[in-house]
Amino acid sequence: MGDLNTFPLSYKVQGQRIVIIGGGEEALNKVRLVTKTTATVVIISQRIEADFSGFAVEVLERAFRASDLDNVALVFVAEESGDADAAKSTARARNIPLNVVDVPAECDFYTPSIIERAPLTIAISSEGAAPVLARLVRARIEAMLPPGFGKIAKLAGGLRQRVESLIHDGAARRRYYEALVTSRQVEAAIGTSPVAGLYQAEALLDQHVRSGAAPGVVWLIGAGPGAEDLLTLRAQRLLQEADVIVHDQLVPSAVVQMGRRDAEQIDVGKAKGHHSFSQAQINTLIVRLALEGKRVARLKSGDPMIFGRAGEEIAALRLAGIDYQIVPGVSAALAAAADTATPVTLRKVSSGFVMATAHGAEDGDLAHWAALAQSGLTLALYMGKSIAPSVAVRLIGQGAAVGLPVGIVINAGRADKSMHRGTLGQLAADTLKMAEGPAIIFVGEAVAAGDWADAAEIATLGFKVA
Ligand code: SAH
Repeated sequence: MGDLNTFPLSYKVQGQRIVIIGGGEEALNKVRLVTKTTATVVIISQRIEADFSGFAVEVLERAFRASDLDNVALVFVAEESGDADAAKSTARARNIPLNVVDVPAECDFYTPSIIERAPLTIAISSEGAAPVLARLVRARIEAMLPPGFGKIAKLAGGLRQRVESLIHDGAARRRYYEALVTSRQVEAAIGTSPVAGLYQAEALLDQHVRSGAAPGVVWLIGAGPGAEDLLTLRAQRLLQEADVIVHDQLVPSAVVQMGRRDAEQIDVGKAKGHHSFSQAQINTLIVRLALEGKRVARLKSGDPMIFGRAGEEIAALRLAGIDYQIVPGVSAALAAAADTATPVTLRKVSSGFVMATAHGAEDGDLAHWAALAQSGLTLALYMGKSIAPSVAVRLIGQGAAVGLPVGIVINAGRADKSMHRGTLGQLAADTLKMAEGPAIIFVGEAVAAGDWADAAEIATLGFKVA
């Protein structure tokens, strides 16, 4: 014997009526729920108080009659009255399933929390014991489903006969349906029109009939600065769909572990001990995996298009004719701005924000430093941690004020973040000891508007800049 006192099932209501006795808020709540179906919804009460005008329902402001329950699939009672009592006994006499709002003892059935992407339905029930928990679970599942999922499910239903006549092997058919419901092209197309979606679904079917498999795809996914909850919902969903996850060293394993458990994981940034992959090897790797028909998640820290070598990987994928898609992520500078409440653009102070590399501070690309120093914009410098003092020297050399505020965030967006603050002059003169981890260096007047209370003051060596 099991533990459930109720049994979840999908009950046919098409072509029938659902009757709600009651005209107040409780009745309205049920109306919201049952108007998701194709049944005719009838409201009966001598006191219609709520506003039902936004719903396709029949409102009868009168006493209940036994004939109201002819051809009725379900009855909800949402008021206390003589009519309600009459409806209850009529429903019971005729064996019509009955729900009496807030009176579990009188209910034949409960209504679960529903996620509807018709025809796909997910019902979450706690047998009435913990509706809050059911709602919480519902929110989590909602987040995992792409908005157009129902339309895709409908499409799959419509294609069923054709798929069966064209693909005879059951496993191959399953592969097609899997590819169909996870295809970004189909999802994007169906967002514009059902016909466009059908066209994409047919193109995919063609490919499957010809090659017996889904073509591979590479998703360039931004993993954000390293916190699991700074991943986008789309990134999370695609990680769940990927067969292989190819990730950089900067992506923490907690984020990589958000992928499917049986997905292959390849760390292309492992520098310690063994050789790390060259960019050319990474390009070759992702192309090869996609050509094998795999769905590849190429997981990069922050945003893939910002200092992520995405340009080279995209070029390789284009050359090989492989499908790809970019999923943006929270770049390190944005996480650093959030951590320190620094508005990187600020009215009358900073009219823009530059994400720039600090690399080349030593070999001195003068045009780069001159442009940065004279921009008057907030600078967010990447990859500059080990050469921070020479970055300051370069900027001052190109005309930046020594008193310009500087803020450094190490491990932005993560629990172990740490901060330093000071001026360009201080930074130029310092041999700064910073914590382990990647860092963003902010330079500009807007930095002073941030909240750097937890930051260590950058020490000066012997002299103080006014
Ligand atoms: N695509 C990434 C940048 C990769 S380049 C992004 O959009 O964030 C690597 C540089 O990014 C590091 O040298 C450092 O400057 C910065 N970085 C990455 N993660 C960081 C983090 N959590 N905190 C601070 N800086 C970070």
